[in-house]
Amino acid sequence: MNRCETIDALRGHVKTVRAEGKKVGFIPTMGALHPGHASLITKAREMCEEVVVSIFVNPTQFNSREDFEAYPLTLNEDISVAQKSGAALVFTPSLDELYAGDFALETLDYGLLTSRYEGQSRLGHFDGVVAVVRKLFSAVDPDMAFFGEKDLQQLAIIRRLAREEFNGLEVIACPLVREDDGLAMSSRNVRLSGRYRQDALALFHWVNRVKKAAETKADISGLLQTISGEAELMKHIELEYIDVVNAETFEPLRSRFERYNAFVIVAARVGGVRLIDNCRLACS
Ligand code: AMP
Repeated sequence: MNRCETIDALRGHVKTVRAEGKKVGFIPTMGALHPGHASLITKAREMCEEVVVSIFVNPTQFNSREDFEAYPLTLNEDISVAQKSGAALVFTPSLDELYAGDFALETLDYGLLTSRYEGQSRLGHFDGVVAVVRKLFSAVDPDMAFFGEKDLQQLAIIRRLAREEFNGLEVIACPLVREDDGLAMSSRNVRLSGRYRQDALALFHWVNRVKKAAETKADISGLLQTISGEAELMKHIELEYIDVVNAETFEPLRSRFERYNAFVIVAARVGGVRLIDNCRLACS
C-alpha cells in the first residue's frame, strides 16, 4: 500500500491508475479506524479496483477545541487497518496542504438538511464537513465515494453536494456497524469510561423501541415523548434529540413510514461524550 501527503502526489497516483482503466473509490476518514470504517473500505474494494482512504482530523468541523484536542490519533494502526481492508493508497495531508492557512468557511444552506438536528446542535459543523469533503473530492476526483449511515445527516448532505458540484460522482451508503452489545461503533467510544460505556447503550435501546413501535403501527409521537421523559430522569445522559425523519430530506415523519426512507435518529451526551445513533424503520 502507498501513502502520500501532498495533493500533487495523490493526483499523480490517481492519474496513473485511471490510465490503467481502474475505477477509483474514496473513503474520507478522521482516523482512529474501527470495524465501521473497515466495512466502508471493504465495500469500496468490492466495487472499485483502486481504493483511496484519507486520514485527516479536520479542525473546522469541531465545535470545541477540547473535542478536537481529545480526538484519538492512531496513525500507525490506521494505516494497518486500511491496508488489511483493501486500500491501495492512504492520503494523510497536513493542515497546510488542505487549507493553506485559509480557514474561512462558507455557510452552507441546504434548508432543513443543514438547519435541524446535527445542524442545530452543532452550529457550523456541516460547514466544516463540506469544506473538507469538497477539498478532498477535488483532490482525489474519485468515481465513487463511500459514507456510513452512522452519520445519516452528513450522508444526505454529501449526496446533495455531489449532485450539485461533482457531476458523475456516485455516493454509496454503507450500513451502520455496531459492537456486539449494540452500541454504534464510533471513534469517540474510547472516551466512554467505566459505567458510561453501559449507559451509552440507552441510545441503541431507544432506536430499537421506536423501530418495534413502527412495525406494530403504535403511536410514535407518544413513544418519542415517553423516551424524552425517561431520559430526563437519567443521571448521566443528556438527550439532545430523538425523532423520526425522512433520511433524504430530514423532514420529521409521524406516519406512512413505508412511503419514505424513514429512520429514527438520536443524539445524546453520555458522561460528557456526544454520541449519535439511528435505525431504519422497516415497516410491514
Ligand atoms: P469519521 O472518521 O468519524 O469521520 O468517519 C468516516 C466515515 O466512516 C464516515 O462516512 C462515517 O459515517 C463512517 N463510519 C463511522 N462509524 C461508522 C460505523 N459505526 N458504521 C459505519 N460507518 C461508520
